[in-house]
Amino acid sequence: MTIQKPIVVKFGGSDMKTSRDMRLIADIIKRYPTPLIVVVSALYGLTDRLAEVARSVKDDAALIDGLRRFLLSTKREIAENFLDDPEKLAQVMAGVSSRLKELERYLKGIHFLGQTPEFAEDLILSYGERLSSRLLSSLLKAEGVDCEEALPEDIGLITDGEFGNAGIDYGASRRRLKGRFGARKVYIVPGFYGVSPDGKVNLLGRGGSDYSAAAIARCAGAASLDIWKDVDGFMSSDPKAVPDAVPVRRLSRREASELAYFGAKILHSRTMEPLAGTDIAIRIMNLHGQGAGRRPGSLIDDRRRVSRNVIKSIASTDRIGILRLDGPGLGARSGVMARATAALDAAGINILSVITAQTAITILLSGSDLEKAVRVLKRLALPAVESVKGDGDAALLAAVGEGIRERCGILARIAGVLAGKGINIKLSASGPSEAAVYLVVRRRDRRRAQSAIHHEFFR
Ligand code: ASP
Ligand code: MG
Repeated sequence: MTIQKPIVVKFGGSDMKTSRDMRLIADIIKRYPTPLIVVVSALYGLTDRLAEVARSVKDDAALIDGLRRFLLSTKREIAENFLDDPEKLAQVMAGVSSRLKELERYLKGIHFLGQTPEFAEDLILSYGERLSSRLLSSLLKAEGVDCEEALPEDIGLITDGEFGNAGIDYGASRRRLKGRFGARKVYIVPGFYGVSPDGKVNLLGRGGSDYSAAAIARCAGAASLDIWKDVDGFMSSDPKAVPDAVPVRRLSRREASELAYFGAKILHSRTMEPLAGTDIAIRIMNLHGQGAGRRPGSLIDDRRRVSRNVIKSIASTDRIGILRLDGPGLGARSGVMARATAALDAAGINILSVITAQTAITILLSGSDLEKAVRVLKRLALPAVESVKGDGDAALLAAVGEGIRERCGILARIAGVLAGKGINIKLSASGPSEAAVYLVVRRRDRRRAQSAIHHEFFR
């Protein structure tokens, strides 16, 4: 007998806001062949609310009641509109309530302790996803679907142990997950967290349920991964800034990673990571798309396709900052960079990119880390560094497409259009990635630069 490979599908928080959404999701699930693994995230906005409660409940027990009422009423509203049978409705709500009781127990514990231990924060934030998986699996069961809720701690989705922003240990997880999803049924898994080798809940970073789904696809040896969204897929630029942006139907994993890393909000930036070296394709599907045989908005796989344009999409973000270390002999000094980056790492600051010259080291990082980074490096008083400055007036643009590195004239065209608009490039890098060039402009130039570059390549 051949073992059927499972298909993994993922639904996001903005796909689950109303009972209509739930109906759409349930009908989509029923059309897939089994075994099917469904990864869900928290109801839109709920993770933020849980974070707020986790922070404040030590001083204010009334938050627990408020949260319970809010969650029961939103879940009940969805379930009531979904099911007619009062008996089934009662069963579904009993399932949801028992999950909610667990959450309340932890919140009360924090209140009595008077503090929120690190592990408790991860645990509490995972309840957004756990409530979604409980609600969806109960609704599907009520409709007669053969379905099972499969929690990461029970199936063995093992992490590297870091709280708040863990990575999945693929080897350890694969040993547990492979063959676990063999039955011809639907498995509902809450996304966004895994468990450390010693059994503690670890979140996978904000927005991390896309990454959960990809890691599960890899470790379970899935046939494919469909990520359902409330939009079509990748676009040639952010349609809010560039109204004539067009859909990008096919992307390589590298292109999708670069776009997600530098601004495209459609996928979590780590989603492509688990799938490297596998032949699992990601399809991005629109929940509100037309027809049963909807075609994917975007397909992401390992094929490298150089388009006529070379550029496939232009992403941008203004959530960055530039850290500049200046000193006349910096380029000739060894060890300066190693010490600077080690100090940033020790302070929990992630570096996005580094560019060096004889008289300067330039480090790109998240804008919210900039002030702290300046403080850390000033304190370090590195030899040969005469000044440490932060520049927060920065927006990054990334033009992405396979073939960029070997095609001449791409950067020249970009620089040319920007010069024509009087937009100064503060910094640019071409070459580190095979499929991307990056440039940094002033924040106020971000949108104009994005439109101008888009127009140059897509007119
Ligand atoms: N619910 C989590 C968050 O808001 C994970 C996710 O939505 O992917 O960050
Ligand atoms: Mg999300």
